[in-house]
Amino acid sequence: MKNYTNEPIVVQAIINGTKVTTDKLYPRENPANPSEIVGYGPLNTREETVAAIDAAAAAFPAWAATPLKERIDRMQRAIAKLKAATPELAKLLSREHGKALYDAEGEFAVSIMWMEHACQTAVDILQDKVQEHENGKTITTYDPIGVVSAITPWNYPISLSTIKIAPALLTGNTMILKPSPFAPLAVSKVIELIAEEFPAGVLNMVHGDAEVGVELTTNPKVGKIAFTGGTKTAKSIIKAASDTIKNMTLELGGNDAAIVLDDFDVNDERAMRRMVIANFLTAGQICMIAKRVYVHRSIFDQFVEKYVEAANKWIRVGDPFHPDVTIGAVNNAGQVKFVQSLIDDAKKRGAKVIPLGRVLSPELFDKGYFMQPTLVLGVDYNDPIVVEEQFGPTLPILPFDDDEQAIALANNSIYGLTSSVWGNEEHAIRVARRIEAGTTMINTAAVQGLDVRFPFGGVKQSGIGREYGAEGLLGYVETHVINIPK
Ligand code: NAD
Repeated sequence: MKNYTNEPIVVQAIINGTKVTTDKLYPRENPANPSEIVGYGPLNTREETVAAIDAAAAAFPAWAATPLKERIDRMQRAIAKLKAATPELAKLLSREHGKALYDAEGEFAVSIMWMEHACQTAVDILQDKVQEHENGKTITTYDPIGVVSAITPWNYPISLSTIKIAPALLTGNTMILKPSPFAPLAVSKVIELIAEEFPAGVLNMVHGDAEVGVELTTNPKVGKIAFTGGTKTAKSIIKAASDTIKNMTLELGGNDAAIVLDDFDVNDERAMRRMVIANFLTAGQICMIAKRVYVHRSIFDQFVEKYVEAANKWIRVGDPFHPDVTIGAVNNAGQVKFVQSLIDDAKKRGAKVIPLGRVLSPELFDKGYFMQPTLVLGVDYNDPIVVEEQFGPTLPILPFDDDEQAIALANNSIYGLTSSVWGNEEHAIRVARRIEAGTTMINTAAVQGLDVRFPFGGVKQSGIGREYGAEGLLGYVETHVINIPK
């Protein structure tokens, strides 16, 4: 296996089974040490994007007609290769992304778990359904949609690509995937090794930003868009796709609330540690991280005290490759600037900002895009640091007086991705039922409560449709009903 840790790599587009080289490249820096270039991604053109779409359209009929067993066998071979490549590719991901190595390895593990589960689920759900009834007979079939454009963000590039590739290909679609320019390298290697296991044109990849994205979302040969990214980008995509009315799965931003009820045990160290991880893993750059915490006023002060203790134990910021580091760098300079401006503005309005954890690798800290995690207290319910999706290592904690107020505060958002309720289980479930979100977790949150066997997605402006679970495959098929009268 190639060792990617020492030399800059150049990744290429894949069009119709061929790696396409281009002179137009952009550098990808190491966020922990920005003077180091980890590799280069291509800036593909509109013409190359059209060629990839044409290849996917040409490959579609034969792939759609390929028996499910063969599709699964090919996917299993890709999974085996991905498993073998994980140790090296996780290092590459960590270097281009900034996330700690164990976190990058975790992303590969979740991807593999999902791909395996998708193979099994395909067998369970893709069978024709034949029903005899008083009017005759109905056969329901699950047909692939056609060509899928997949567009992914930088924060979890591997899992948010494989979450789309596995179900799309297993159900008989073909695909063009465009990764984010902020983490294009490891995911390109992953897609290369998966694409090798499939016929030419079934899985294609192009690189770039909005220009490529626009072609992927307007081209009439594209039947479905599978997009994960920001809500603002999704609005442009919806407009772009409206002329040709495309099927869409949209996994968008979130501003997930955590509600800590009056019966939560602040001395429960295990739960407190889980909460800290739910707030700061991957430096807070997860769509489903708990981004605002509402705590019952009767336990507020003790909660903050115990939270700071737990956070100081778990949070160790620094070199992503340091074995004791739990939080690496923020992915890019723009993100640091945005999060810092939210904190600075909250401070100007009188917020108290408490730094959390320890900095290990101080020599890198000043060079790279590192931020020491912070707790923000004393802000208004409508402060931008509470209302906006911060997507960084900062956390506002606010008090509430009763369950009704907590539910209203949690629901007072344009977003509704995940949420969590902490306290006595029955009480927490009663509150959970009233929260507007795709997922609500009890006494856990964020990726710790994620289970690929169950559907994941958002309500309100956090998205349309579901990934993972059986729904994660059904999003890639058209239900086709054949009625035969008596
Ligand atoms: P982004 O919206 O800026 O970019 C996402 C992708 O869209 C990138 O590949 C980008 O190049 C592409 N893009 C940009 N403009 C485009 C256009 N006009 N047409 C088509 N494609 C275009 O998001 P980001 O900054 O990469 O990721 C962070 C966001 O993603 C956060 O809001 C986060 O919450 C969200 N996210 C959501 C989920 C989820 O499952 N709901 C998961 C991860 C991230």
